[in-house]
Order: sequence, then C-alpha cells, then structure tokens
Amino acid sequence: MEETIVAPATAMGEASIHIIRLSGPDSARIIGECFVPKSKERWSLQGNFTLYLGTFKDGERVLDEVLISKMSAPNSFTGEDVYEINCHGGPFIAQRILNTCLRHGAHLAEPGEFSKRAFLNGKLDLVQAEAIIDLITSKTESSADLALSQLSGGLSKQIMDLREKILEILAFIEAGIDFPEDDVESLDRNALNYRIEKAISITNDLLKGSKTGKILREGLLTVIAGRPNVGKSSLLNALLKEERAIVTDIPGTTRDEIRESVNVGGILLQLVDTAGIWESEDTVERIGIERTWAALKKADLIILVIQANVPFSEEELTIFQTYAEKVIVLVNKIDLLNNEILSINNIEHWIPFSVLLHQGFDKLEEEIKRRVYQGEVKNYSEPLLSNARQISSLEHSYTALQQAKSSLNSLMPWDIISIDIRQALQYISELTGHNVQESLLEDIFSRFCIGK
Ligand code: GDP
Ligand code: ZN
Repeated sequence: MEETIVAPATAMGEASIHIIRLSGPDSARIIGECFVPKSKERWSLQGNFTLYLGTFKDGERVLDEVLISKMSAPNSFTGEDVYEINCHGGPFIAQRILNTCLRHGAHLAEPGEFSKRAFLNGKLDLVQAEAIIDLITSKTESSADLALSQLSGGLSKQIMDLREKILEILAFIEAGIDFPEDDVESLDRNALNYRIEKAISITNDLLKGSKTGKILREGLLTVIAGRPNVGKSSLLNALLKEERAIVTDIPGTTRDEIRESVNVGGILLQLVDTAGIWESEDTVERIGIERTWAALKKADLIILVIQANVPFSEEELTIFQTYAEKVIVLVNKIDLLNNEILSINNIEHWIPFSVLLHQGFDKLEEEIKRRVYQGEVKNYSEPLLSNARQISSLEHSYTALQQAKSSLNSLMPWDIISIDIRQALQYISELTGHNVQESLLEDIFSRFCIGK
C-alpha cells in the first residue's frame, strides 16, 4: 500500500466541476509540486481538513484554477492522506490534471481501490463497503435508504454483536474442556445450550429481515401472466408510464427475456415481459410455453390478469393453484360490466381493475407493499441485510449453529461442538471481513467504479 493512487471521482463528461482524487503517502508531495495556493500564509498553516484556492500547474504552465480539499491521515475516507482537486468541469482539463499527477508519480487507481484501502485501513467493514456500491446504484428511494442505513453501521453493529456472542461461546467451550468434571459438566451443557440458542435466534432475526432487504435492493422479479387480450400489455405500458420507469441493465438479466424496471410505491418491480410468449401459444410454440412456465416458477410475484366475467381457463387455474402464495389476481376490464355483478369463482382475493379507466392501481400498489413488508417491517431505514453474499454467509453460519445445537443435544464431546462453532465464526467473519480471502475482496471491490 505504499503507492499513491489517483483517479477522477466524478463522471468525465462536461460538467460544472470535476474532482480528481489522490490518496497515499506521496499525495502531499505531488500537490506541493503542482499546486500554487493563492494565500501562501493560509497554506503554510497546513490544517488537516481545509479547502485551498489556487492554481494547478504543470511545470510553469497553469492548467486550471482549482480548489483543493485536504483530508489528512488517519481521518480521511481511505485513512491515508487524501487530496481532492476540484477543477473546472471540462473533461480535457480534468484529464490534463490527472496526467500531471501520474507524471509526478501517482498510479491510476483501480476500480474500488479507494474503498478497498478504506476497508484495509479499518475505516469500513465489508457490509459498509458493499452498501456504498448499493447506494450508488440504487434505483428507488427505499433501496437508497436501505443502503444508507447499512453504511451508517447499524447493521454492522448487529452482526459484530453476533460475532462477539459466537466468540464467547467458543471461550465458554474452551473453559469447559479445561474443567471436565462431571457435575459441573451437566450444568454447563444447559448454559451452553442457552448461549447457542441465543445466537441462533439473533441469526434468525437477521435472516428474516434479509428477505425484505433483498427485495428492496434487487426488486421483485414480477411476471405478468394471462391469456391473450386480457390487457397485459396495456397494464405493462400503464405501469411504465405512470410510475417512474427506469431502464436498467441489472446483472443476471438473461438475454432472451425483456425486463423493465418500474418503481411501484417505492418497490422496484422487475417486470418480465412474457406477453409475446403467451400470445404465441396457439402456434404450437412449445418452447415459448415452457419458457413461460420457467419464468413463473422463478418469479417472486405473478400478476395474473383475467377478464371480468369470463370463466377461468384451465391454465389460469393451474397457475393460481400452483403458485397461490405469490399470485395477485387482477380482474381487468370491469368497465365493460354494465350492471352485471362481478363474480369470480374459485378464488377469494382479487382486485377489480380497469386499465382503461385507471381503476385498481392503488389497490395493486397496496397489495404489493403488503406482501413485501408482510406487516413486519414498517420502516425501510431499519438496517436489513440485503446482499446475496452476506445472506449466504449468514445462512451458513446459521446451519453451523444448528449443527452445534444438535451435537450438544446428542451429548457429543465438547471439542466436536467447538468445531461447529468455529465454522459458524468463520462464516460470520467472512461476512464482516474479519477473515476473508484476497480473491473475494478483489471480486467485491472490482464492482466499484473508478475513483470510488
Ligand atoms: P394482452 O394481449 O393481454 O397484452 O392485451 P392488450 O393489452 O393488448 O389488450 C387487448 C385489448 O384490450 C386492447 O384493445 C386494449 O385496449 C383492451 N383493454 C385493455 N385493458 C382494458 C380495460 O381495462 N378495459 C377495456 N374496456 N379494454 C381494455
Ligand atoms: Zn400484449
């Protein structure tokens, strides 16, 4: 970490300002060589957190009038000496300044390298580091709030507490191994059981919240299903037009299906458009039909559109029965019912709807929110685990704790139990970054942009 790194911290188009960020042991020297402060007296005071106005020079040549922010080690973002050069927002100007820093000995930073240094210097844990990427890429208010709450460290604290508990269990077991007296032993087993159960319950709570967290972060994979002409495309278009539509390229999106992201009541829906597939079902498109079923299976949510007072088709019924827990039934075109009474056989909950008259959208939004929050989470700024890697580590840890509990209950020797607890500790440490492989770090930080 001896190198000093430099990178543009802003997107390099035309803008009012650009920021070039320098971090590392040589950054003070580089700034000293290139920056001429307007007020020499102020500069000589050398505060640790200060802004300075002046000119940035390459030799004798003035490149721009700039504002320098100085943030000294160890209290900067990276924990190193950091200087940010605020220059005028021409890409050409920023590039010249960047090149000058490189010529004076800085190295171009890799994506995420500033954040990686912040992590390695103990300024951030991995949960917080990953929250930064999420914050930058968040597409709804609720996913941004969620990332912010993770960044602020509330979630990290809960996980650190859990890790602490597991460490205590290990210490407790070690003590038990040291004093294997029989009557003390039986007493201790109860105490140990209590401690393990406590850790399991904390893990369980974190995992419960993570379901909501993951949805807020990644959105709900949503399939609009229904037979031809019921109004699927009309609904899709209305949602895209009404709600702020966001076109995104979400990692993991397969190429053969079109996904549109739409923000419904603060929840991101990734709408999978299988309309075409459904509509081609008459033309013996077996592959298409199979794909639709695959999409339905994968979906987090199915919006099944049926038409008012048209009996259920066999297919609609099958969808409803197979996926009852994730289907919302919209009965569309209620505007066509003059004075007929709307009757739906077979199902209890459905939403009367009319794309044409714009009826039912509120109810749909309510129903989606109800399902996401399930009455358990009222506030999205509550810190929730949302990241798939972190959730997987926690799940592994949960399994190891369960294993420890069952070893304990089947009266296994303590050193066997301690193996399970060590395993649980290993997974939790991976989550927070206490004990993590270099390749995983590289993988995480390479998802950041340059300059972050
Ligand atoms: P899809 O085949 O399921 O995608 O159905 P479309 O969205 O293409 O709609 C089929 C027809 O139904 C079109 O002519 C729409 O204008 C019409 N339609 C859609 N929603 C409504 C509605 O709420 N009321 C009425 N009366 N017509 C609708
Ligand atoms: Zn259609």
